[in-house]
Amino acid sequence: MVAEDLTHLRFEDSSGREHAVSLCIPAAAEIYPLIYEPMYRDAELAAHLLPLEMAYLVATLDGTPATFESMQALFIDDTVAFRTLLAMRNRLYETIASEGRIRFGCPHCREGEVSFDLLSLTLALNAAPWPITDRNRIFLEYPALASDLLPGRRPGDVAVAAYLKVETPSGTLGLASPILRGTLHTIVQGEEERARELWEAPFNDPPPGREMWTYERPGFQAALRLCLALRKAGSDLEEAGITPEIFEKMPVPDFFFLDNIYYLTHYVDVDDAADRIQCRCEECAGAFLPVL
Ligand SMILES: [Zn+2]
Repeated sequence: MVAEDLTHLRFEDSSGREHAVSLCIPAAAEIYPLIYEPMYRDAELAAHLLPLEMAYLVATLDGTPATFESMQALFIDDTVAFRTLLAMRNRLYETIASEGRIRFGCPHCREGEVSFDLLSLTLALNAAPWPITDRNRIFLEYPALASDLLPGRRPGDVAVAAYLKVETPSGTLGLASPILRGTLHTIVQGEEERARELWEAPFNDPPPGREMWTYERPGFQAALRLCLALRKAGSDLEEAGITPEIFEKMPVPDFFFLDNIYYLTHYVDVDDAADRIQCRCEECAGAFLPVL
């Protein structure tokens, strides 16, 4: 369940008039195409992109279903009201995207596991989570998995986790999603090339429904990499992995959560501070680092 105060709010616009707004949780397919590189983020893009994004996010405004036109009118007429919606978006996404759970498998006995949530993992690694929005809290930030980061440094003398299991925010909150649990693997170079051959659409002539399936879109780049990293536990997809079609149906906070967990466990450096962030297996008392 998502707390009602995250999705429902009454607020006053700049003329003091009261409004009631309710939000829904958009699917990844609706939101990830709206992620743009920093160089394109300007007033012109905002005027088109933000009303479009809000039309997916806002279920009703004053009892009326939100449309692109109604959100565009609000964007032009009332900056205070529009900023309120953006602040609601940020709070909703950031709260839900921190609700997932992760469990690291012990590399010594391979039976014990150590559990974290997003906050406890960032504390253990002494690392900030990857941001969902840009610094101005307006545009959605570039996903970590579309940023071509270098693998994090690892000390040679301390074991890292044997595997990483995830429960998505949808799993912990009981939301409808095709992906509730799975394991997160390190992406291998050859895999990504195969996946691009399989799924990427030609930029100039994409098949219907795959208009966004191109590496020109940072959201799709991250989505495709997450498809490769994620394996769904106990399902027929275990062998085949997860396709972009399935991925697109997940609520978008799950996308932010998985991107963040991949970032923290693969790209954050762990070197001098290694002795401070080891976790200890409850089965065999062996110590290891909560990263891959
Ligand atoms: Zn163990």
